[in-house]
Amino acid sequence: MVIGVLGLQGAIREHLEMLASLGVKTRIVKSAGDLEGLAGLVLPGGESTTMRRLIDRYALLAPLRQKINTLPMFGTCAGMILLATELEQGDVHLGAIPMKVKRNAFGRQVDSFETMLAVEGIEVDIEAVFIRAPYVERIDQATRVLARIDDEIVVVETDMHLACSFHPELTNDTRLHRYFIEKVKKQRSVHVI
Ligand code: GLN
Repeated sequence: MVIGVLGLQGAIREHLEMLASLGVKTRIVKSAGDLEGLAGLVLPGGESTTMRRLIDRYALLAPLRQKINTLPMFGTCAGMILLATELEQGDVHLGAIPMKVKRNAFGRQVDSFETMLAVEGIEVDIEAVFIRAPYVERIDQATRVLARIDDEIVVVETDMHLACSFHPELTNDTRLHRYFIEKVKKQRSVHVI
C-alpha cells in the first residue's frame, strides 16, 4: 500500500516521515503518472494559491479531480482549502469535500497557535498546531464534523476524504495520520470486494 504526498510546496517531508514512521510506503507526487496505483494521497499545508499555481504548471488539476471519487485524500491546512467545493474567496481547486472554507480565518491576533483538541473517533485530545489556518464555514450533508474550536469547524471527513485546519505533521502526534490510514484501508477493502 503506497500513500502519496503532493510534493509541490509546503510541509512535504514531515508528512512523508510521519507516514513512513507508521510503516506506510510513500511517494512524492509531482506528475499525473505519480498518482497511478496510490492507495491514498496527502495534500500538505503551505500556501494554497502557490500550490494551485504549481498544480496548474505541473498539469495536475484534471488528474487530481478525476481521482476524487476513488482516491482517499487527506488535506491539512492549505490542503483543506484545496479539497473544498466552495471557498469564501477565489477559485475552487479540487472540489472533493462538500464544504465552504474560509482562508486565514482565525484573524491576525491569533494568526498561529497551538492547542489540545478533542476529535471525534480519537480517544484523547490531539496536539494541534494552527498556522494562518482556514476553518470550515459550512458543510453539506455528505460531510461530517469531527472537531471544532469554539464554534468553528476544524476537522471534517466524508466517507472518502479527511481534512483538518492544522498541521498534524508538525507534532509527534500520529493519530490523525493513523486515522487516515484506516480510512484508506477501508476504501481498499470496499474496492477489493
Ligand atoms: N494560509 C494558507 C493558505 O491560505 C494556509 C496556511 C497553512 O497551510 N499553514 O493557503
